[in-house]
Amino acid sequence: SASSTPIRATLFPGDGIGPEIAESVKKIFKAADVPIEWEEHYVGTEVDPRTQSFLTWESLESVRRNRVGLKGPMATPIGKGHRSLNLTLRKELNLYANVRPCYSLPGYKTRYDNVNLITIRENTEGEYSGLEHQVVRGVVESLKVITRQASLRVAEYAFHYAKVHGRERVSAIHKANIMQKTDGLFLKCCREVAEKYPEITYEEVVIDNCCMMLVKNPALFDVLVMPNLYGDIISDLCAGLVGGLGLTPSCNIGEGGIALAEAVHGSAPDIAGKNLANPTALLLSGVSMLRHLDLHDKAEKIQNAILTTIAEGKYRTADLGGKAKTTEFTKAIIDHL
Ligand code: NAD
Repeated sequence: SASSTPIRATLFPGDGIGPEIAESVKKIFKAADVPIEWEEHYVGTEVDPRTQSFLTWESLESVRRNRVGLKGPMATPIGKGHRSLNLTLRKELNLYANVRPCYSLPGYKTRYDNVNLITIRENTEGEYSGLEHQVVRGVVESLKVITRQASLRVAEYAFHYAKVHGRERVSAIHKANIMQKTDGLFLKCCREVAEKYPEITYEEVVIDNCCMMLVKNPALFDVLVMPNLYGDIISDLCAGLVGGLGLTPSCNIGEGGIALAEAVHGSAPDIAGKNLANPTALLLSGVSMLRHLDLHDKAEKIQNAILTTIAEGKYRTADLGGKAKTTEFTKAIIDHL
């Protein structure tokens, strides 16, 4: 209720269109009486020696303290001697799972109108371990590291997610016929966790076949869990099934229940500062943050207002073929709350 103490959440407006779409989120959340108090942090203009990145130590501490946050896009600054912003966040906050819901938006026509799936990507190891070297001239190696600990952790998250969200099936995506040891271990861990969730159907699908099935009939899938690189590719493929970058939210889950929600898209420098950006992806990321906080009625209310506004078609941003400015679209959503 409005009288209870507000929940503090970290907000990174980010770069480019970030501040414009973050403003839209703040306005809509305020209009919907969401009991959240934002702690805003911007990417610094110089490297913080404590993080070796443009992200300040204070901003990371803010997420650690609040355990929940929303992140706009961050443009990667050029120059040497610092870590990438997204890598810093992932490592420092141990964001081990990236969760991306993909569902068809009613009233926004794409090739499919029955998509409703969730991709869950292992976010810390696999092909992204950064262990690459040259053996001799003309021969290089890259180590794909899979650990029991990280695999169990992401599998546990996927099954727990399925159970809590009333999902019926978890598909582990792999290439264990070739990557016998690495993907083999990943599958073994998924199987172990599956045994603890007899009410959820478990299946294993080879990645190439999975791609074919997804583009033929995405309704074949429910929750998908997979190692890092497969997750990177499949989650973008799924975003493409439902209408593109302006629409797709995601949420990063970290150690100890940290949740950092973020839009999938970048800072869109081509349209930044012009009041043209579509705030839907960041808004829906905010909605997933609300669900994480068990604020389901607020989440539902805001999500419905967004979907109704898009379905009506009167106010749509340019990326969806409309003429509405960011602020006009935002106002239309508020009118639908
Ligand atoms: P981008 O996602 O910023 O833009 C790609 C295209 O999509 C552009 O034409 C842009 O106008 C459009 N677009 C993206 N989001 C939109 C929205 N909400 N509404 C309307 N149109 C939208 O990708 P890019 O141009 O490759 O990257 C720009 C910068 O963003 C780079 O510095 C990159 O490193 C960074 N980036 C950050 C993240 C992140 O923080 N997670 C992700 C991707 C890219």
